[in-house]
Amino acid sequence: MSNPQHNLTSQPQVPLPSPRRMLVTSALPYANGQIHIGHLVEYVQTDIWVRFQRLRGHEVHYVCADDTHGTPIMLRAEQEGISPQALITKVWQEHKRDFDAFQISFDNYYTTDSPENKTLASAIYLQLREAGLIEKRTIEQAYDPVKEMFLPDRFIKGNCPKCNAADQYGDSCEKCGATYAPTDLLNPYSVVSGATPIRKASEHYFFKLSDPRCETFLREWTQVKTPLQVEARNKMKEWVGEAGESKLSDWDISRDAPYFGFEIPDAPGKYFYVWLDAPIGYYASFLNYCQQKGLDFEDWVRPNTTTEQYHFIGKDILYFHTLFWPATLHFSGYRTPTNIFAHGFLTVDGEKMSKSRGTLISAQSVIETGFNPEWLRYYFATKLNASMEDLDLNLQDFIARVNSDLIGKYVNIASRSAGFLIKHFAGQVNDGAMSHVLLQQIRAASEPIATLYEEREFAKALRLVMELADMVNAFVDEQKPWDLAKDPAHKAALHTVCSVTLEAFRALSLYLKPVLPHVAINVEQFLNLPPQQWHDIAVPLNSKHPVRPYQHLMSRVEASQIDALVSANQ
Ligand SMILES: [Zn+2]
Repeated sequence: MSNPQHNLTSQPQVPLPSPRRMLVTSALPYANGQIHIGHLVEYVQTDIWVRFQRLRGHEVHYVCADDTHGTPIMLRAEQEGISPQALITKVWQEHKRDFDAFQISFDNYYTTDSPENKTLASAIYLQLREAGLIEKRTIEQAYDPVKEMFLPDRFIKGNCPKCNAADQYGDSCEKCGATYAPTDLLNPYSVVSGATPIRKASEHYFFKLSDPRCETFLREWTQVKTPLQVEARNKMKEWVGEAGESKLSDWDISRDAPYFGFEIPDAPGKYFYVWLDAPIGYYASFLNYCQQKGLDFEDWVRPNTTTEQYHFIGKDILYFHTLFWPATLHFSGYRTPTNIFAHGFLTVDGEKMSKSRGTLISAQSVIETGFNPEWLRYYFATKLNASMEDLDLNLQDFIARVNSDLIGKYVNIASRSAGFLIKHFAGQVNDGAMSHVLLQQIRAASEPIATLYEEREFAKALRLVMELADMVNAFVDEQKPWDLAKDPAHKAALHTVCSVTLEAFRALSLYLKPVLPHVAINVEQFLNLPPQQWHDIAVPLNSKHPVRPYQHLMSRVEASQIDALVSANQ
């Protein structure tokens, strides 16, 4: 151990957290449709967290991919008269365009239909088989005799057994809300061909989750080892049960041809169910990235690694990520996730997003109507916390929040003071003003804000930042630089006020940088600064680097833009 005296003197002003090494993912969007604002909640949430971690100096790799396999992709490609590969290539480009527009900073955006994924999925399956956790069993399923394919539940419709409403899905009735099995439907028909489904037997492959080894592992992993969200932990308790309860069922991981996916080793005509290879797609994307960057993949994915692994997901796919995925990894010789972060669903004006109300807003329409994506990033961030509660995009509140917080409070600070500094002081701050008490207060908020970002309490972090912005604006109102500028006798006071204000603006911009990456770049240019890291909070503006003339940073949202967005989605 080193001399504590020595440590004290050599410590930097703001302690640097020791660098962590993190692999972070967002859920893989299905390659069967557009990205809409409901999806974006998750990518924005993950991206803010990832950008924050990078600002802290950690090694972070953020990977994702399109989820490309399964019956819906196969059938849609057929409908469009193209190959599944052509369809998923087209959709990948659309998804990538949308994510880029929203500044989602993936280090690698890949596809699950990749050679890496095929190799990993097959190897993992063989390991599970080796471990005695794969079982063959014959089951009966609905089969379309015309199309000659087995039918997933979503592809069977019929009359509701309760209220006789026509064209209801095989799991529940949209008319009366009854839930039932597809076999209960009256006059069932295949959505694919219209034929009446028959029952047909076929051999399936199961992952034996009911094996006592799996139950023991999952009980420990979900209740002891992993700091899951409270809601998730409680769900897991319900799903895994107490010791001896045997609540877990085996997981059917195979599908019969025709199917778009990977064929199972030693099982011709049998394919991995899309949910088997989709999460492995996280690793396949990361492996592809490691190969590009010369990173040691094995060092990240084997047990006893010192690296961390986080998956951001929607609460609807918790089951797959907290049961199937860790069990798949553990019993095939891989490390398990450090944690799973689930979020709630997005509502718009308090209701489920709907096509008819124009609130199922596509990412593309946001871009095409000239909307600034950072408005939405900011608004989502003001609503996001560490829980699985749903969050609401209230369109009127959105306008008010963006205009009052971002324009009225934040951007306004720069526009109010930069002009004076350029005009009267050649853009040079007064170095003596950098220890002003207001600035000390703002800098002192650095670690509390960092903690809130770390804990995914973005709403609270932004509330703190806006409180600081209020303080700065109150300072400007009180000091009245516009009056000081009128009298040469007050030149020194004017210099101090403008310097303090711009340094405060620098600090607030740094605190907002994970949320507003594009604005942050423009601010760094305007303030003549290198890319700012979190610890740069302690390095104030400096008269040796004069600020440049203020450039417009962000516009207000107009109500007419919201109307245009809603009508573009109707
Ligand atoms: Zn019904």
